[in-house]
Amino acid sequence: MRTVVSVQTSLVCGSIERWGSEEQKQRWLPGLTSGESFGCFGLTEPDTGSDAAALRTRAEKVDGGWRISGQKMWISLGNVAEVALIFAQTEPERKHRGLACFLVPTASEGFTPHEIHGKLGLRASDTAEIALDAVEVGDDALMGEVGDGFKIAMSALDSGRYSVASGCVGICQGCVEASVAYSTERKQFGVPLASFQLVQEMIADMIVRRDAARMLVRRAGLLKDASEPSTVETSIAKLYATESAVECANLAIQVHGGSGYVDDYPVERYLRDARVTTLYEGTSQIQKLIIGRDATGINAMVPPG
Ligand SMILES: Cc1cc2nc3c(=O)[nH]c(=O)nc-3n(C[C@H](O)[C@H](O)[C@H](O)COP(=O)(O)OP(=O)(O)OC[C@H]3O[C@@H](n4cnc5c(N)ncnc54)[C@H](O)[C@@H]3O)c2cc1C
Repeated sequence: MRTVVSVQTSLVCGSIERWGSEEQKQRWLPGLTSGESFGCFGLTEPDTGSDAAALRTRAEKVDGGWRISGQKMWISLGNVAEVALIFAQTEPERKHRGLACFLVPTASEGFTPHEIHGKLGLRASDTAEIALDAVEVGDDALMGEVGDGFKIAMSALDSGRYSVASGCVGICQGCVEASVAYSTERKQFGVPLASFQLVQEMIADMIVRRDAARMLVRRAGLLKDASEPSTVETSIAKLYATESAVECANLAIQVHGGSGYVDDYPVERYLRDARVTTLYEGTSQIQKLIIGRDATGINAMVPPG
């Protein structure tokens, strides 16, 4: 659910609201905000993940519009969306300054999504690989200016990461609740599991992580509400909250013993669903590099030389 809401609101609607023309807003936002239609965010490609500026999808100018060709990978809601934000390169020699963002109707000829199966978690959320085979769109599909694509993607991820982080506070909370309930009910050695100090230690570790993650998310949120820069604070919240969700879910399974390993209890799903959060919308390593770049002034994301 959170992936669906986050992609729809933070990545798609938020970007159209911020960067779209009045016509684009009128065309797409009523359906998207009422939930009648879905949108998707097409940044990642088979050969381009963390290095988003190196996109290979090409947009070529044609009479009255653009022709887009390429491949997108891991696109949430890609099979069900009515509109796709497609990031494409218009002038490869200009690198990230040549990137543009297009609002592509998914019914366009040459736009072909395929379902990705076999995910560890997020099984209720659709994920697609998308082929773009000379998809033609009008000039009115360009969002912002040519060259704004990288800025649009990064500003969208700033909100998306915040949403991922706050969802992870929820996973931590769920882990605490499930673990307290189970450990106070189940008995071993004649007493509830919660009587053992080593079990309480696991619950205390989860609670500390939950609360620290919540405070970091709140700090980033207060900055966002005040329209102040929050990129680094959002990366800190995303890094800590996502790693904490994985850690808490793992601990929650431990508290449940063998019962935690099957789907009679929610904790095995918490672990499967938490796992992707340290990967998408910028991996934990990428968040660390954003934080380190801010602290040192040195960009370690791109290899020297
Ligand atoms: C379920 C799911 C849904 C997704 N939904 C969307 C979506 O809706 N839209 C979209 O555009 N994308 C989506 N993604 C893609 C996601 O954002 C990427 O998977 C993610 O950005 C990582 O890219 P990659 O998988 O290519 O990994 P890679 O970039 O190949 O990274 C592999 C490993 O190398 C590390 N690494 C890479 N570069 C560096 C570096 N400079 N320094 C140190 N370590 C580095 C990474 O941290 C990682 O550990 C989704 C992914 C999944 C799994």
